[in-house]
Amino acid sequence: MIRIDNIDNNLINQYNRFHLEVINVLKDDEALEIELKELPKEVMCCPKCSSKAIKSIGLSRLRRFKDITEDHKLATLRVSKVNYKCLDCESIFNQENDLFYNKNLTTRMKSVVMYYVKNTNLNNCEIGRQLGFDEKSIRRFRKELELSVQKEAI
Ligand SMILES: [Zn+2]
Repeated sequence: MIRIDNIDNNLINQYNRFHLEVINVLKDDEALEIELKELPKEVMCCPKCSSKAIKSIGLSRLRRFKDITEDHKLATLRVSKVNYKCLDCESIFNQENDLFYNKNLTTRMKSVVMYYVKNTNLNNCEIGRQLGFDEKSIRRFRKELELSVQKEAI
């Protein structure tokens, strides 16, 4: 992968909207690798007790998320999240972020996968190849979709 010296403003802005600063972008023919830094939100409170007495206690280990950019480029995000501690109830937590769906997937990547599973005739392997997942992961998403459809039918 090669490092991009002039990072596109659109790319910077789309992560800024989610309180993330773009630090570094690497690129090859197929995908981007984007290093991000979490920007603190102005008002934060403890998710457990709602106290505003919190302090940052350093960075989490590096996490990777599969993402797809607004202009449809596959990307791996590398983020170290800030760990916070509540001074009242002592729970440790991270800042909530709407971009992240779970610990290795962004919300918009998840939507795109579900769209492919639902609306194309591509098989699991083909979807996986296009979106950078293994066949097994796509099979899991398909199962999830089937279960949610069944739930709606009840
Ligand atoms: Zn608390």
